[in-house]
Amino acid sequence: MYNLVLFRMLCRTGLISLELLTKSHRAQLEILVALKAGRSDFLLMDNSISSSHLAEIYMNMRCKNLSCRVLLPVDECDCRVCSRKDGFCSACMCLVCSNFDMASNTCSWVGCDVCLHWCHTDCGIRESYIRNGINASGAPGMTEMQFHCVACNHPSEMFGFVKEVFLNFAREWKFERFCKELEYVNKYFIKQRL
Ligand SMILES: [Zn+2]
Ligand SMILES: [Zn+2]
Ligand SMILES: [Zn+2]
Ligand SMILES: [Zn+2]
Repeated sequence: MYNLVLFRMLCRTGLISLELLTKSHRAQLEILVALKAGRSDFLLMDNSISSSHLAEIYMNMRCKNLSCRVLLPVDECDCRVCSRKDGFCSACMCLVCSNFDMASNTCSWVGCDVCLHWCHTDCGIRESYIRNGINASGAPGMTEMQFHCVACNHPSEMFGFVKEVFLNFAREWKFERFCKELEYVNKYFIKQRL
C-alpha cells in the first residue's frame, strides 16, 4: 500500500491516477478526499459510497456533494464554468461561489432559462449578475430585472420566475419562510433600484 506522504508527492507532481486512487487503502482515500473537498463528512462515512466513487470525486470527475454525486460535467456541458473541470457541478452548485445547495422551490436560487445552471441570489446580486437589463421584446426604454448567466451570458427575466415560485409554492410555506422569500423579492426588485 502507498502511504500518505507518497500520495501527497504524487498529487503534487500530477502523477496520481484514477486507477492508483481506486486501489489505495480506503482510509487514505477518505482522508485525501476530505482534505481536497475541505469537508470532514468524508471521514465519517460508512461504506455507502464506493472507493471508485471516492476516487472519481478526488479527480473532479464526480460531484463531491454526497446528496448529488453525479458524473461531471453534468450532461457533458462544455460551458466556460464546467469546462474548467475543477469539480463544479451544475446540478447543485452556485456558478459564483461553487458551494452546493439542495434548496429548491425558492427565490434564494436563480436559474438560467437556457442552460439551467444556478446561482445564489445573494452571490448574483453581490457580483452584479442580477441587474437591470433591456427587455427582451426590445421595446425602447423598457428595462427589467434579469439574471445574466455566468455560464452562457443569457439574460433570464426575473419577475416571471419569482411569480412562478410564489404561485406554486407559497401555499406550503410557514410564516417565517414566507418572510424570507419576500426578503429575496425585496433584494431583487427594490434594493436594486435604489
Ligand atoms: Zn456548464
Ligand atoms: Zn452536484
Ligand atoms: Zn453562491
Ligand atoms: Zn445559462
